Amino acid sequence: MAKVVCVLYDDPVEGFPNAYARDGLPKLESFPGGQTLPTPKAIDFQPGTLLGSVSGELGLRTFLEGQGHSLVVTSDKDGPDSVFERELVDADIVISQPFWPAYLTAERIAKASKLKLAITAGIGSDHVDLQAAIDRGMTVAEVTYCNSISVSEHVVMMILSLARNYIPSYQWVVKGGWNIADCVARSYDIEGMAIGTVGAGRIGSAVLRRLKPFDVKLHYTDRHRLPEAVEQELAVTFHKTAADMVPVCDVVTINAPLHPETENLFDNAVIAKMKRGAYLVNTARGKICNRDAVARALESGQLAGYAGDVWFPQPPPKDHPWRSMPHHGMTPHISGSSLSAQARYAAGTREILECWFEGRPIREEYLIVAGGKLAGAGAHSYSAGDATRGSEEAARFKT
Ligand code: NDP
Repeated sequence: MAKVVCVLYDDPVEGFPNAYARDGLPKLESFPGGQTLPTPKAIDFQPGTLLGSVSGELGLRTFLEGQGHSLVVTSDKDGPDSVFERELVDADIVISQPFWPAYLTAERIAKASKLKLAITAGIGSDHVDLQAAIDRGMTVAEVTYCNSISVSEHVVMMILSLARNYIPSYQWVVKGGWNIADCVARSYDIEGMAIGTVGAGRIGSAVLRRLKPFDVKLHYTDRHRLPEAVEQELAVTFHKTAADMVPVCDVVTINAPLHPETENLFDNAVIAKMKRGAYLVNTARGKICNRDAVARALESGQLAGYAGDVWFPQPPPKDHPWRSMPHHGMTPHISGSSLSAQARYAAGTREILECWFEGRPIREEYLIVAGGKLAGAGAHSYSAGDATRGSEEAARFKT
């Protein structure tokens, strides 16, 4: 029987909800392009409820304990004295969400001699040292597509929020003001702007599709080019590299995974190539942007705004410069954890577990690492290596 350790974010400060703002979720038939939604044999949770926090348990307890497995759920994930570090030692399976990542560094993998499977309840497995997982022969799987559309909606919201100066304008109302000039002195239409995405996979393509009706000029860079018909349909221009693309863009949105090729991609040099006053939206991973280069560019005016929900490490310490830099629209990592997305990734996690316990293959599109190499979605979109370096700093959030 397996020991499953599941790391989830804390419950709401006011306690686990017993009522919700809406009475259910729209029913989706499939993902764009036809990939089927997660297909577990059954679920033991109500879609639309809070599944991603500790008391929600991703709806897994009845299923796992019913089969004789044990389940430990904790939010205490950072530092040598954390519950996660203690429970990991004899765990067979670890489940974690990118929003509140249980960093699986090489040191932690070395301590967890029984660990065979790491599931990302979401998308983006950079919190696992993929090289160490490859060397150990572990399987790493994520729930591909579960929240890609959720994030694409969020990206459009953030682009509009920055350009229209929404957050400061909202704050004037809350403060009791009616300061129209203060609000509009930094407010622009996006109509006619050039908007480019780094990565045109599931999220990046969905962002392009959602932005097209705004009459903007679309651009992208990716390791693989989109089919010609899609490029024509979206009237989107391809660039070989991000450095080639950014000089023509008024807005850049980052939608590529974090792996050695993309780590620190937006450093001083690339940000300097951007138009003065460009907006940068990063909902992919914090480490793709250089922390201090972003803060400096906002202070100098090279960037007119930066928004996103991804940081490094997570949670970031209280003195992380992105909390206090000017003209930012940062939130905690939430774009892929709407109640809608939670229902899909909880079901996808259950599907992966059912396959694992029954000895059935996990869907190819869910695999990141298997059989000692990058596999499935991982082989297509990642490069091998380690992006977890520096994650110990997450323990500083506690102090
Ligand atoms: P996909 O795998 O569908 O798309 C990622 C795209 O990025 C692929 O087209 C890939 O190229 C491309 N890419 C990889 N490396 C590079 C590179 N060096 N330069 C340019 N493009 C590159 O994944 P999704 O769109 O679903 O998700 C993308 C990322 O967004 C995730 O990996 C995750 O980090 C983040 N994410 C964030 C969430 C949040 O809540 N904020 C939630 C979900 C995801 P190709 O495959 O052609 O090689």
